[in-house]
Amino acid sequence: MFTVYTYLVGEHDLRLVGLAGIICAIASFTAFNILHHIVNSRGAVHWIWLCIAATASGFGVWATHFIALLAYSPGVQSGYNLVPTVASLISAVILTGMGLAVAVAPDFYGRRLLGGAIVGGGIAVTHYTGMAAFEVAGRIEWNPTLVAASVALAVALGAIAMSVGLRNRSFKSMMLGSLILTLAICSHHFTAMAAAALVPDPTIVVPPTAAPISWLVTLVAGAAFTILLLTIAGLALDIRDRRQAERESLRMRNLADAAFEGLLVCEGNTIATANATLSEIVQSSAEWLAGRDLATILPEEAARRHLEEKPNVAIETTLHPSAGKPIPVEAISRPIAFADKPHRAIAVRDLRDRKKAESDIYYLAHHDALTGLVNRNKFNTELDQLIQAHRPKGSHGGAYLAVLCLDLDRFKEVNDLFGHAAGDMLLQKTAQRTQKALRKGQTMGRLGGDEFAIIAPGLSDPVHASRIAESVIEALRAESENASTADGLISASIGIAIFPADADDRMSLLSHADTALYRAKAEGRGTYRFYESSMGEQIRSRRLIEHDLRFAIARRELSLVYQPQARTHDRQIIGFEALLRWHNPVRGEIPPSVFVPIAEESGAIIPIGEWVLREACREAAKWKRSLTIAVNVSATQLHSSYFSQVVHEVLLETGLEPSRLELEITETALIRDLNRGLATLDQLKALGVRIVMDDFGAGYSSLSNLRAFAFDKIKIDRSFIKLVNTNEQAATIVRAVLGLGRGLKLPVIAEGVETEAELAFLDSEACLEVQGFLLGRPQSIKAFQQVTGSGIAKTSPAEPSSDAARQKRTASLPSAAR
Ligand code: C2E
Ligand code: CA
Ligand code: CA
Repeated sequence: MFTVYTYLVGEHDLRLVGLAGIICAIASFTAFNILHHIVNSRGAVHWIWLCIAATASGFGVWATHFIALLAYSPGVQSGYNLVPTVASLISAVILTGMGLAVAVAPDFYGRRLLGGAIVGGGIAVTHYTGMAAFEVAGRIEWNPTLVAASVALAVALGAIAMSVGLRNRSFKSMMLGSLILTLAICSHHFTAMAAAALVPDPTIVVPPTAAPISWLVTLVAGAAFTILLLTIAGLALDIRDRRQAERESLRMRNLADAAFEGLLVCEGNTIATANATLSEIVQSSAEWLAGRDLATILPEEAARRHLEEKPNVAIETTLHPSAGKPIPVEAISRPIAFADKPHRAIAVRDLRDRKKAESDIYYLAHHDALTGLVNRNKFNTELDQLIQAHRPKGSHGGAYLAVLCLDLDRFKEVNDLFGHAAGDMLLQKTAQRTQKALRKGQTMGRLGGDEFAIIAPGLSDPVHASRIAESVIEALRAESENASTADGLISASIGIAIFPADADDRMSLLSHADTALYRAKAEGRGTYRFYESSMGEQIRSRRLIEHDLRFAIARRELSLVYQPQARTHDRQIIGFEALLRWHNPVRGEIPPSVFVPIAEESGAIIPIGEWVLREACREAAKWKRSLTIAVNVSATQLHSSYFSQVVHEVLLETGLEPSRLELEITETALIRDLNRGLATLDQLKALGVRIVMDDFGAGYSSLSNLRAFAFDKIKIDRSFIKLVNTNEQAATIVRAVLGLGRGLKLPVIAEGVETEAELAFLDSEACLEVQGFLLGRPQSIKAFQQVTGSGIAKTSPAEPSSDAARQKRTASLPSAAR
């Protein structure tokens, strides 16, 4: 019995064995290469390519077998029978073809292993049919163990070869697959040959019909030539595909580079490519990014999951560039086909400018530009939060909270004697020195002019507040001692009120601290006083106002004045804002800044607001020109469940076209109960009414609130307009808000325009609508009869616009309008 090894080395021409191996490897590689094209093809083309791959591999298997046989010299007379020879060739093509068809069949688990096993079976069938064609002067004795081993080798290695070679389209896996397939064919062949022991038997005569070796050589050469042709065809196909992919990716790249937004193309979580904008954002070239995990630049896992699971839904996240700070972006993903395979395109919008504008607006809205202290708005918000925390169940429950109101003594004198610059210096120094005397957690704000206030939370004893006051007064006194000139002399008086001992809410707490402050001033200055309940005069007056307000409608004490809103460039009036006035026979004119907050708190704003709405709509419905009418809506109204119903009724009742009604809502009102507020706004919008965000910039100024609802207009708060020509920061903010409006395609109106210079600034910054004393003070609607009736609305251009003329005009207004 021969072993496989001695058999191979002993009885073979090893050069021919080598040739068989090479042909086998080339044929295998060609088959894999063509198979990869099949994976992407459909219909008839699919089957044609399958036949070609079957031909390449079948011919390969067959040629390997016969070249190896030619390398074998049994030492006795031999030849080949034509019919089984051709039969083995056909069975090679058909069986490997079947195996390949299974291996590339779509969507069935284990298809490559099964297909490979069938190919292995084909190899065995080819071999043993081929052996039947071998005519030799002798008997063949078969060793069943080796026969079984040969079949097992072909089947097992065939299965492995298919699953390795078809795993992906890389050159490496195709190469490895073809080597294993070559090993399958060769190991099978030589094990099978070793299984056959030739016992020479002179009595057996090779029949004359057996083809001579030269004939077989021609056949094998033909097969090898076919394989070569198919190899070339496969390579040509490859080149064509690659060029096409390159052209496609170049076209995509050019298109993508022209895009303003950053674009990433990913396969799974691996970046395939990126456009120029994205490279710029993350400061890495597209080449560096290609092949990297998306997590390299987008480490936030939740965001990646969102992009994967929710295509077409934008998300805000951060990109991490190779160096520097994370960049806030908005990202959205979309499935696309790229290089014939499913990919995801991720569009990325840089939010840095937007966030910067947002934080600038936020800062200016919450801080005082001169001292850098928090302003009244922010101070109030913090105080509200802290009061909440000091209530019995809050985090500071049980402790005391002190509010200290601080006012400079003789500030006015410094301002008048030494000028505004000296006054500003004094305020800055006061802020600095006082802050140094405060502890962590204590907040100082500038409430306006020379009015400051301090919140001291978490006190175990109200008496501690006096120590704070003493140390502040002492710090300011020390500063004065160092001052070389008279304008450096600082002295302050302080009034203190304690929560919950003195008051239960912010407004009364502040007003009590204020009352105590006046007492301190009256009793000597440079000192402090605690609030005493005997000082509660103001509270009583508040209660009285609340009481009177309840009857204001019935007693016909309320009235509306109308302030024009105009187009910036030609000052043509396009609408009016209705503003409420209260004339009480005893108290006289009470400004809305005083009674509206009281009405809001007591709930009286609900009937009053309804009255305003009805009155304003009734008035506007009478006008000949379809000018807009803006009505202010307070938080209490917005959150009442009947509000949209009331608006609907009023519109029906007065016959006012809904699109002419603009409801002005402040951000603070909206966020008190955001969801409820948004729901009401949706209902109002469905009526056709327009919604304006009032006082933008003065509150939270959060762009997310602005985007949470489709507002129809933004109104920039008048505190900014007042500053545009003196404060560069304010001008920047106004520009940012106007830019924001353009970005969100929202018209912007500026209120509080008082001077020609402010108007000129707004005109040059393309703010299209304005409102303010310059365009007209709030007046009785009678003053505008010409505009609302048949007359054509022009304010200033037709009239002299000198200050004297303006004074004359305003001088003739009813007292309520001034
Ligand atoms: P608002 O909604 O911001 O109204 C604009 C205020 O700015 C009005 O004050 C108006 O007279 C004033 N104003 C207009 N142009 C200029 C200007 O060029 N310079 C200056 N310094 N001020 C200007 P008013 O009438 O005293 O109203 C104060 C606030 O009272 C309003 O602020 C609004 O919040 C509230 N309010 C007035 N009427 C109503 C109303 O009917 N309902 C509700 N809920 N609130 C109202
Ligand atoms: Ca308003
Ligand atoms: Ca306003």
